[in-house]
Amino acid sequence: MAMAISAIADDVRHVKEDNPFESMMSRFDRAAQLLDLDPDLYAVMRVPNRELKVYIPTRMDSGRIQVFEGYRVQHNFARGPAKGGIRYSPDVNIDEIRALAAWMTWKCAVVNVPFGGAKGGVICDPTQMSMGELERMTRRYASELIDFIGPEKDVPAPDMNTNEQTMAWIMDTYSMHARHTVTAVVTGKPIDLGGSSGRREATGRGILFVVNEAIKKFKMTPPQTRVAVQGSGNVGGIGARLMHEAGYKVVAISDVHGGIYNPNGIDIHEALKHLQQTRSFEDFEGVEAISNEDLLELDCDVLVPAATENQITSENAERIKCKILAEGANGPTTAAADEILHNKGVFVVPDILANAGGVTVSYFEWVQDRMGYFWREDVVNERLHDTMVASFNDLCRYADSHSVDTRTAAYMLAIDRVAYDTRMRGIYA
Ligand code: NAD
Repeated sequence: MAMAISAIADDVRHVKEDNPFESMMSRFDRAAQLLDLDPDLYAVMRVPNRELKVYIPTRMDSGRIQVFEGYRVQHNFARGPAKGGIRYSPDVNIDEIRALAAWMTWKCAVVNVPFGGAKGGVICDPTQMSMGELERMTRRYASELIDFIGPEKDVPAPDMNTNEQTMAWIMDTYSMHARHTVTAVVTGKPIDLGGSSGRREATGRGILFVVNEAIKKFKMTPPQTRVAVQGSGNVGGIGARLMHEAGYKVVAISDVHGGIYNPNGIDIHEALKHLQQTRSFEDFEGVEAISNEDLLELDCDVLVPAATENQITSENAERIKCKILAEGANGPTTAAADEILHNKGVFVVPDILANAGGVTVSYFEWVQDRMGYFWREDVVNERLHDTMVASFNDLCRYADSHSVDTRTAAYMLAIDRVAYDTRMRGIYA
């Protein structure tokens, strides 16, 4: 059986360390082999259900039309509607969107929310576009996807360079075509338009909840735990602030331009205020400057890469010194680095669990929209806590009972759940 799987995999794989799709697939293949996954299920689960490529004519402020290229990959529907963000970036490409769509399938399965996975993207440079141009591009992109998205089909959310405003435009465009307001078509909306309390902080809060569980394994308490965070956006900034408030000693934090370090801990509220006011950590007092590369290699207890992909690779993994790696970003560690970290004894809380707080509260948002009844923030946070802690414990039990590392366990657990549902539904072939 394993032979059959390797044969299919070798056929389609050209291993390249910084290709997120390859990173995802090599872990999928390993988990599938360990599960002795039926070759028919393997063949179905290793490919997306649907890939859409759309051309998006957009009237620019100059009066001319520019045609942008966009994608939506719907990876799997076995457990429910597809779910996943939309990113705007000049670097968007189909391999990245495919990998991110598949990660959403595995992530939703790890936290056991009833969604499949999807991801979308448009090749554009939003920093060079006006609000009007962004709105027109977003609405045309949404209208091209109109037959393929919807509360029961595929529910987009914000990702890199998209936000609550983008989601409000998509919701409105979809609603104009439907001739009635359909809030549940997207999540990550403004609270007044059917968004959920606690959604903005959910990914950072989820990281706090899993780190709280992970340090217990090392018999550490928050004040004894030194944390380094790469990235200070929605995930890194909010995660660092919540950890600081929970008593952790956050010793380093960065943004794309570089970071700051103080072995005695940084006042994260003040540092983030400084970043907001000056758009940089530069000149923040009482700290040393540190590069993003050096931050990853700091002597610390918990490392939270919360910026972007491919930060921990076969090149630097040997020099990583943390005890716990809690992956805030999607795909911050390449598959080639996994074994090195495992051999060093680093306890990895893999991205498909560590950053799943966002999709968990997106699920709560979708539920609230469909009920038309909205929960208090403490109710959202308590339910998020229960989901993250239960999923962390499921993962650790799975890793122990199958004698595998936590990364492999996360993929095995997710594939096991999706495979079970696919088998029960049957393959319509
Ligand atoms: P963001 O845009 O709010 O913040 C990104 C941060 O990373 C910024 O501080 C930016 O300066 C920094 N950064 C960007 N490129 C960098 C680089 N090359 N080196 C160092 N720092 C860099 O984005 P976000 O929403 O915080 O997302 C961060 C990561 O987390 C992404 O991988 C995203 O897919 C993932 N993620 C986000 C959510 C969410 O709810 N926002 C949920 C799950 C996963």
